[in-house]
Amino acid sequence: MEHIKIPKISDYSDDSIVQPSDFKQDFDLVSPEEIKYFNETLVNDYEELNRSPLIFGLPIPQKVADLRNWMEENLHPQLRIDHEPIFFHDILVIRKVENVRMIDRYNNKNSIVGTLYLTATHLIFVDPEANAETWILHMHIASVEKLPLSTTGSPLLIRCKTFLSVTFVIAKERDSHDVYSTLIKLCQPVNIQNLYCFQYTSSSEELVKSAGWDFFKLENEFRRMKVPNDEWQLTTMNKDYALCDTYPSQLIVPRAADKSILLGSSQFRSKGRLPALTYLHSNKASISRCSQPLSGFSARCMEDEQMLQEIKKTNPHSKVLYVVDTRPRINAMANRAAGKGYENELFYENTKFHFLGIENIHTMRASLVKLIETCEQKSMNGFLSSLESSGWLKHIRSMLDTSSFIANAISKGISVMVHCSDGWDRTSQVCSLAALMLDPFYRTIKGFQTLIEKDWLAFGHKFNDRCGHLQTDPKEISPVFTQFLDSTWQLMLQRPNAFEFNERFLLILHDHVMSCQFGTFIGNCEKDRIDLKVSEKTFSLWGYMANHMNEYINPLYCPGEVEDIKPNLSPQLIRFWRGMYARFESGVHPRENIGDTLLESREHCASLEDHVQHLTKRIGSIKNLISKSAKKLQTNSANLLQTATGRSINDNKFNYDNKKLSELQSADHDHPLKSDDVLSISDCNNEVNQITNEINSVALDWKSLRSASVCACSTPFSQEMKKTHCWRCGEIFCTRCIDKTFPLPGHNSGKPVPVCRACLKIVSQVSP
Ligand SMILES: [Zn+2]
Ligand SMILES: [Zn+2]
Repeated sequence: MEHIKIPKISDYSDDSIVQPSDFKQDFDLVSPEEIKYFNETLVNDYEELNRSPLIFGLPIPQKVADLRNWMEENLHPQLRIDHEPIFFHDILVIRKVENVRMIDRYNNKNSIVGTLYLTATHLIFVDPEANAETWILHMHIASVEKLPLSTTGSPLLIRCKTFLSVTFVIAKERDSHDVYSTLIKLCQPVNIQNLYCFQYTSSSEELVKSAGWDFFKLENEFRRMKVPNDEWQLTTMNKDYALCDTYPSQLIVPRAADKSILLGSSQFRSKGRLPALTYLHSNKASISRCSQPLSGFSARCMEDEQMLQEIKKTNPHSKVLYVVDTRPRINAMANRAAGKGYENELFYENTKFHFLGIENIHTMRASLVKLIETCEQKSMNGFLSSLESSGWLKHIRSMLDTSSFIANAISKGISVMVHCSDGWDRTSQVCSLAALMLDPFYRTIKGFQTLIEKDWLAFGHKFNDRCGHLQTDPKEISPVFTQFLDSTWQLMLQRPNAFEFNERFLLILHDHVMSCQFGTFIGNCEKDRIDLKVSEKTFSLWGYMANHMNEYINPLYCPGEVEDIKPNLSPQLIRFWRGMYARFESGVHPRENIGDTLLESREHCASLEDHVQHLTKRIGSIKNLISKSAKKLQTNSANLLQTATGRSINDNKFNYDNKKLSELQSADHDHPLKSDDVLSISDCNNEVNQITNEINSVALDWKSLRSASVCACSTPFSQEMKKTHCWRCGEIFCTRCIDKTFPLPGHNSGKPVPVCRACLKIVSQVSP
């Protein structure tokens, strides 16, 4: 295929900024299809705006002329920049608006005046006085609202999926409208190929595109549960997604269920989502999941009835199978009028039917809107009544309640089959939460990722629709996954030693599900992701997370201590998650997060212990050297004396081991004054220099997190920002400033550790 050259698309995610020095003038190859895409898609999108053209974040080539030439040769005239390009941190700016007032509702006493930059992927506000930058990823924007004109200008209220909300007052109405319409376009692309993940390229050489895509395989997770076995088999009937296109290609079903049963059951279930195994406990009780039956008021399906009998029979210890319908009874009954509904206990032998009353996605969406309003309340009364009317905590509790019901049944040895309507929202929530309560593996970092891969990604939770990645029906958006993370957090509060991961892990996961920076959560089901070739074209969140593992560790975790979690669901124990929904609210969080402080102390101790080991070794070798030199000096002077007097004064050869004896003997043959045999002055100096280097390379004191207010790059630290210590100087940096690890000469282990840029320069020069 013929390729033409295009300047490399820059990477400028929140935590990686391309430095001018980093940019080499290399050009990436881009296919003619991609150029076609640049020209067609972008021109179409921007014709309507009739405004600033958009070029995907091309970094500054060393000569701006190169960029101009390239654009003139390859791009549609409308996409070419007809003025001098503006750059910010090497990112091409689409729009730059000066004199913008930012009203941060968290500290809105003083509004800040600064400059707003609009790039292809971020909205950046720069406060020149505090030297602070506020970066908002377009994909994180949930809504942009034009507020009524004020005397100072035209305000835009931006609410983010990360629960940041900020208002920019732009002096000229025309500029404001321009920014508004551009953001509306950019935050929810029409075309899936315009999602951030398809443009994102990592600047870190530690992260390669293929990393993480092979971390989880559904078959491996089933093998961990010892499936297939005598009761359960792997069916290939959904190999090409013919049976059910929103299901995984590999399905585990009862061994006794033949093809006609599977086919019949699938046809009798909404969207073909037939009952399939998702979790098998050690006592042979299992959780299966599916969608509602197409039963209407009286329809029956022999194959579907047979299917449930076969599921029941896989568990020899129980004579009954629980069928859990997570919906409120009234919703399930209403569905009957549409030819759907629920199982009739009279037709399904040996089943026990339960309605468990979790509300639908529309109720949850409305609840979140009210919860966000709750966070904006100023008075205590306002906060309490708003929290109550949102019903959020009640919904979280009903989720935990249903999951706990399922987990209890499994513990008692009764298998459960779960469904809601289509079986991809509430069913995903409760199946994964029940498994989280039952199996300690799912409470490890790897296990939690596996759980998400299985019950959310493989079984087809509609991430695209529920997160609103693309411009779709707003009624499809719902915080279903956020509620799952919230429920997990509630369990973590109750059992702080049972989870390997911390709160930050959940927040990062949440934000990246929304950011579309990685292809992991793109699409609505497994088949979508295969069709989109995300594993070839995009980075995996799991690969990225593997490089940041040390940030997610819960220092209180005691593996093996907690078998199953039986949550206490007293209403007093269901808490409002301040760290998620009010995380940008300054002043409501502790200045020192206890988890971060513990982790920091643990790392500091590890560094010091490593240094102690190194120094102990050093002292040993210096001792050796000194005693060797001293003995040589002694021998030499004895020889001198012997030569002078003609007789031996002291022969201490027996004090040496054989190797040293032979060394000494050979030295004896040489001239007694030969200087090489003792430590020379220059040797000593080198040794001293080296030791000084080693000692200086390990910080004995680490700056306390409490006193850290700004990074060396003058970025003010906010509560939610991850702060990292440089292990060499002990100072605290933001994640943009510490992105490299390097082994320190003063450590015995030689393990690469985080170092700041200035220290990296020093240690990398010293080491060979
Ligand atoms: Zn440093
Ligand atoms: Zn910094």
